[in-house]
Amino acid sequence: MIRGACGHDCPDTCAWVVEVQDGRAVSLGGDPEHPFTRGTLCAKVNHYLERVYHPERVLHPLRRVGAKGGGRFERVSWDEALTDIAQRWQAIIAESGAEAILPHSSAGVQGLIQMQSLDLRLFGRIGASRLDRAICGHVASAGLKSTIGVGSGIDPEDIVHSRFIVLWGTNTIVTNLHFWPYVREARRRGATVVVIDPVKTRTAEEADWHLPIRPGTDAAFALGVMHIMVRDGLVDHDYVTRYATGYDALVERVRRYPPSAVASLTGISADDIERFARTYATTHPSLLRPLIGLEHHRNGAMQFRTIACLPVLSGAWRHRGGGLARSTHALHFAALDMAAVELPQHDTPGVRTLNMRDIGRDLCDPDMAPPVRALLVYGANPAVSMPNQSQVLRGLARTDLFTVVHDLFVTDTARYADYVLPATSQIEHLDLSPAWGHLHLALNRPAIAPQGESVSNTELFRRLAAALGRTEPWLFESDESMLRAALASGHPWLDGITYERLWAEGHVRLNRPDDWRPFAEGGFPTPSGKAELYSDALAAAGHDPLPAPGDITSASGLQLITGKTLHFLNSGYSHIDRHRRRTGTLTIDVHADDARAHGVSDGELVRVRSGQGTLDAICRVSDRVQPGVVFMPYGGLVDGAGARHSVNVLTAEAPTDWGGGSGLYSTFVALEPAR
Ligand code: SF4
Repeated sequence: MIRGACGHDCPDTCAWVVEVQDGRAVSLGGDPEHPFTRGTLCAKVNHYLERVYHPERVLHPLRRVGAKGGGRFERVSWDEALTDIAQRWQAIIAESGAEAILPHSSAGVQGLIQMQSLDLRLFGRIGASRLDRAICGHVASAGLKSTIGVGSGIDPEDIVHSRFIVLWGTNTIVTNLHFWPYVREARRRGATVVVIDPVKTRTAEEADWHLPIRPGTDAAFALGVMHIMVRDGLVDHDYVTRYATGYDALVERVRRYPPSAVASLTGISADDIERFARTYATTHPSLLRPLIGLEHHRNGAMQFRTIACLPVLSGAWRHRGGGLARSTHALHFAALDMAAVELPQHDTPGVRTLNMRDIGRDLCDPDMAPPVRALLVYGANPAVSMPNQSQVLRGLARTDLFTVVHDLFVTDTARYADYVLPATSQIEHLDLSPAWGHLHLALNRPAIAPQGESVSNTELFRRLAAALGRTEPWLFESDESMLRAALASGHPWLDGITYERLWAEGHVRLNRPDDWRPFAEGGFPTPSGKAELYSDALAAAGHDPLPAPGDITSASGLQLITGKTLHFLNSGYSHIDRHRRRTGTLTIDVHADDARAHGVSDGELVRVRSGQGTLDAICRVSDRVQPGVVFMPYGGLVDGAGARHSVNVLTAEAPTDWGGGSGLYSTFVALEPAR
């Protein structure tokens, strides 16, 4: 049995064990010894070996024959592919400079070195355009940092000590399912669970109280709660006086948000706002769990900044299980030596940075200097996962764009590639797996040899470096050497956590102190060392220095919310036979009032229009959504020609306030019968 960990972009980072017979993996299941994931995986990854041994898997380098997008390829050798790629890149560098090469990658493999290590070193060295991966996570971090100095919070496992839990913009049961038993345990001990979400998700159905908020008005709701706390003397003045700055200015600000005004902004009744505020402020420990749903709005960073003021005013940080719990990635990465992995000192200075959200616009921009002439995609499928899908596809279809894709399958993006290079699956390569949902660090050991001629991301970049004639030894460092360097940071949370120990045990929890309450006595890592209710840094950057509702988008039409489903990871797993049948349908949930107003009915094919494009979907009249809001799942409809029409046909690249990312949920659509 060989231990490893799931490499998908998911907070749980489940540990697994793989049984191998004669070099073939014959079973893969959850590791029962992992304290957080406890021996279970999820509906997708339970069938991971079907992905590993899938007949459509790319096992050899492929070269395009026929038109881009047609998905027709011929097999070539690694030598042929690498020689051609290196020659094409060198010609582009000579004519246009290295910035004409754009790497595009994301969390397709969410391990420490397979997600980003030798790729950053090679592209940094040659001076290719730098990719800003700030489409998700960065917005929340930026907002939280402006108030409390970090994007994380308490150890999520401490939720069992909480007595008032607010799951805010997160469908825990579907997207963070191994966290749900901790929520249940807290509830068994007497906790109340509240879900704030515009959609009645499965988690909302299970909660004690669901507040169906109008999308993007969460900061306004938090301001209303603070108004009541100030008005009714529910603020922990001792905590605020010692550990926060800007309280007086905040009080002036929240006076503008009485419950009646907030009710009209948020769609939540004044009575419910009053009840929430009083219960939140008087029940300890109280924990906020704000996640992804909040950050995909134009005001995403401000939403997190404003919500982060609540546990400061209530003094919730004093209590074990109190405060706020978001991604734990920052805690892992603070302990690991990331600079030893990325070696930023070798980067070419002054290189431009392009945000991954803008790939369609950048590829189609005739005035970009230099234009993007070569694209390398790995760990990503931008043809469906980036906003404004139609524009992304127009860019990928450019005949003068030289595109290489490294993946396990001929993805939607790979159909437009000049070369498709075979990638290893998670059970074929070595990696370290920091989790963003807990503090257990796992070592993912390769259980089987790379299938066919597939290579890991790190091996791909060693081969590309060699093909480009590079000789710097640090471009060829081994996987094990990089992992050992990351673990050798000297950080106390890694004391005793060695490569050998991880190899033997599979996973170890970081040495966080017992009863770890990071801000019980202040110590916020902000410029002032205090929680910044008023932010000089935001003022200097030209933003509102105080918590605010932010830019609440309003437009005519129905506000489009998207979300994950149980059986797919975005477009991933859609080729698995047991899931494939589900790719033939795209659905849209519509409230009965809106269905009536738009002349559409349940089960009918409807045309959905936004400023970006048009998509047909099956209408599901549902009380899961409130009037004025529609919901569509990620993934998409695969047509007869093999092209996938995803919800991103409808979304725009619009950035958020100051966190980067994309205001995907600030999209409004119109509906009509599709006839
Ligand atoms: S996708 Fe998430 S829940 Fe599923 S196995 Fe991977 S880490 Fe676990």
